[in-house]
Amino acid sequence: MSLSARFSCLSDHDPEALSVAQARAFIGSQLTPIRIPERLPLRSALGRVLASDVIAPCNVPAHDNSAMDGYALRHAELSETAGTRLRVAGTALAGRAFAGEIAAGECVRIMTGALLPAGCDVVVIQEVVAVDGDGIIVPPGQRRGQNIRLAGEDLAAGRPALAAGRLIRPAELGLIASLGCGEISVYRRLRVAFFSTGDELCSSGTPLGDGQVYDSNRYTLFGMLTRLGCEVLDLGVVGDQPEWLATTFRQAAAAADVVITSGGVSVGEADFVRTLMAQLGEVLFWKIAMKPGRPLAFGRIGGAWLFGLPGNPVAVMVAFQQFVRDALYLLMGADPLPVVPLLPAVCTVALKKAPGRSEYQRGVLSDGCVRPTGAQGSGILRSMSDANCFIVLEHDRGDVAAGDSVAVQLFDGLV
Ligand code: AMP
Ligand code: MG
Repeated sequence: MSLSARFSCLSDHDPEALSVAQARAFIGSQLTPIRIPERLPLRSALGRVLASDVIAPCNVPAHDNSAMDGYALRHAELSETAGTRLRVAGTALAGRAFAGEIAAGECVRIMTGALLPAGCDVVVIQEVVAVDGDGIIVPPGQRRGQNIRLAGEDLAAGRPALAAGRLIRPAELGLIASLGCGEISVYRRLRVAFFSTGDELCSSGTPLGDGQVYDSNRYTLFGMLTRLGCEVLDLGVVGDQPEWLATTFRQAAAAADVVITSGGVSVGEADFVRTLMAQLGEVLFWKIAMKPGRPLAFGRIGGAWLFGLPGNPVAVMVAFQQFVRDALYLLMGADPLPVVPLLPAVCTVALKKAPGRSEYQRGVLSDGCVRPTGAQGSGILRSMSDANCFIVLEHDRGDVAAGDSVAVQLFDGLV
């Protein structure tokens, strides 16, 4: 069945304007992950997706050890009501265990990470004991097992430490390294080709002619795709010429898993881009009930998925973050998808908002309060550059009064 037939079966949409949620759901329903594994040295796997489960070859930690600096001893030797004097029989350091066995009435000075000496079942922190000659006085009230990290409590030998589909972030790199693995199996990188369309576009290094603008979309796309770990193929600027566009579309589709274009998908455009996309592939054009980022094309050309983004620079970034990002993670095999959470914040100024479309204003969030970054025109990239979040004004929402709660989506995750 064709994309358009599948789409019309799926939705009871207003053909004039599709909601963000409908478009997102349809795109997600069409894509299947591209799962081609390769083995990589651990550090090279940052930003990739695990192709197979990582099974722990050993316990982490490998042995029972101390979580604190203090004294290791036998709980049964402690008085429940008074201080107990114990002789210090030796010292256990991280990487240098206490060799012997403690006798009755003895304890071992122990440092964080040191192996727990045989027979000991509690570590008492140094701050609460009183040193008394060659021994210590331990106050009552200690709990068996306290301040001890048990073998395998982080990761148990033989059990999956991470499942296939997990995106490798710094924490995963460290976790896999803690198992002693130097190489892992991940999916190959997604290949994404992109180009800008428009007769008015001029590339950097060339003087600006009358009515021309410098192409910025290839730079924001390059940045966003590179951050997602995609292999990028920049096909440059293509003028509004059917032959050039057709050649570039074919070249892009032959080389890449995904093709992203900007410009030329609006209604009333010098219509070649729309017409051509439809001729070369199977493409749906949508007017999305959102601001910015209204027109969007989605479909297939040859073996590649196509995203035709609008031309306005802010609209490109918003459409990318709201539709393309998740689609790329899905194609990369990421499971679960790394969601960008919606967080509540107090909006410090009033915002105009018409119900019936989703709006993505650019804001600065700090300490639970958010304000928009000045002029919000869809061509004003400064509004993105000055921002650290989207202020997400939902489809049905109306005007926002100063002091109202709004949802925000941070641009950058912490790790
Ligand atoms: P379009 O979607 O092609 O009608 O373009 C909408 C607006 O975005 C126009 O003002 C274009 O000049 C501008 N525009 C399109 N592509 C780019 C680009 N790559 N870089 C900067 N501005 C662009
Ligand atoms: Mg154009």
